[in-house]
Amino acid sequence: MQGNLRYKILLLSFALLLFPLKGITVDKTTALRIEKEIQKHNLEIIKMRRFLHMNPELSNREYETAKLVGAKLISLGLEVKKGIAKTGVVALLRGSQQGATVGIRADMDALPIQELTDVPFKSLNPGVMHACGHDIHTSIALGTAMVLTGLRDKIKGNIKFIFQPAEEGPPPGEEGGASLMIKEGVLQEPSVGAIFGLHVWPEDLGKAYFIPGHMMASSDWFQIVIKGKSSHGAQPHKGVDSIALASNIVMSLQSVISRTTNPTDPAVLTIGKINGGTRSNIIAQKVILEGTVRTLSERNREKIPQLMENIVKGITHSFGADYTFNYRKGAPSLYNHPELAKIMLPTLLKVLGEEHVKELAPQMVAEDFSYYCQEIPGFYFFLGVKNPGQETVAPLHNPYFNPDEGSITLGIKIMCHLLLDCLERQGHLESYSP
Ligand SMILES: [Zn+2]
Ligand SMILES: [Zn+2]
Repeated sequence: MQGNLRYKILLLSFALLLFPLKGITVDKTTALRIEKEIQKHNLEIIKMRRFLHMNPELSNREYETAKLVGAKLISLGLEVKKGIAKTGVVALLRGSQQGATVGIRADMDALPIQELTDVPFKSLNPGVMHACGHDIHTSIALGTAMVLTGLRDKIKGNIKFIFQPAEEGPPPGEEGGASLMIKEGVLQEPSVGAIFGLHVWPEDLGKAYFIPGHMMASSDWFQIVIKGKSSHGAQPHKGVDSIALASNIVMSLQSVISRTTNPTDPAVLTIGKINGGTRSNIIAQKVILEGTVRTLSERNREKIPQLMENIVKGITHSFGADYTFNYRKGAPSLYNHPELAKIMLPTLLKVLGEEHVKELAPQMVAEDFSYYCQEIPGFYFFLGVKNPGQETVAPLHNPYFNPDEGSITLGIKIMCHLLLDCLERQGHLESYSP
C-alpha cells in the first residue's frame, strides 16, 4: 500500500477510535448471510456471466442483455423499468425499513473487437467482444440484487439497480450512456442519495484500487481540418502544403500541454488519426486531424481548446491556409466524493483487509460514471481481475482480455456491504453536495 493511503487510513482509524460509529456496519450475522446467499447463487451468476460474454452487444444495441437483466430482476420481485436511455434497465428494491435510496450502476455494452481468447464461452458475435469487462459489471450488479433480495429485512431504505447502455459511447449521431440515463430521470423517484460503481482492473485478484477526489480524466474529442491549396509536388511554391502545416501543428499542439498547463495538474493531448493527400507527387489540399484531450481539472479543460485553436489559426494563417476547428466535450472527470469516501472506505477495508486496498495515481482514461458524480456523491473503485497464476494479463480493450471470474463473487460481496453500510450511515448523506 502506498504511504499516502496508509496515512489516511491511520488518521481515519484514529478518528473512529475517538468517535466510534456504533451500529453503522452490517453485523457478523448479516455478513454471514451475505456469504451464504452468494454461495447459493454463485453457479447461476457465473452461468449468466458466460451467457453475457458469449452474446456481447454494442453500445445502444444491448437488446438481449437488457432482456436477460430485466427478466432476472422481475423474477426477484423488484420494481423494474425498461427502455430507459434506449436499452437501460432500472430496478428498485425496497427494504423492510424506511430510509434513503442508494444506487449501484453497471454498464452493459461491449466493444467492436474480435475476441482472440480460447475460453470455452468465447463471443459468438463476430467482431464484438466484452473486452472492457462490462459482462462482469452486469453480473456483479445482478448478483448483488439477488443477494440483497434475500436480505430485505436488513435494508434500511431502498436500493436502486441501474443497468446502463453505451458507456463506451453511443454510435455517431445518437445520444446515450449515463448522461441520457440522468436526463430520463434515473436518479429520481425516489431520488438517489449516493451511487456506487466499479470497474474491473488488470491487477491482482482480491485487491481493490481506490483514489479519493479526481480518479479519472475528462474525455473530449476534437477535429482539425487544414485547408491548403494543391499543386504539383515539384512546384510547392504554387500551392499551400497542408501536410507540412499539419506536421507543424501536430508538434506545436504538444506545447499546449508542456508549456501552458501546470505540470502538477495532468493533461494529455493525443492526435490519434490523421488523413490527407491523394498521391506522392501532389501537394495535399486538405488534412484532417482527430484526437482526444484528457484533463483532471476543469481549469485545464476550460482553457485548452482556445489555446489549441490559437496555434492552429497562427500556423495555417501564416502560410495562407484556412482551417476549421471542432471541439466536443465528452464525459467529465470522475470525482470520488471525499466525504462519502471517508465513510465508505472503512467498509472496503473491512471486506478486503487493509493490505488489499491500494491507492493508485489518477488514471487518464475516462468513465461516464462521472456524470452521476456530478449530480450526487459517488464512490467508484477498481477491482483486480488478474489470476494469481498469470504472470501478465491482457489490458482492457484488448482481444485477449480475460478477467478471472473469482472477481464476481468478491465484487458482489463488496457491493452488498457498501450498500448496506451506506444505508446504515445515511444520516451523513443529507449534508453532502455533489
Ligand atoms: Zn471500455
Ligand atoms: Zn469499461
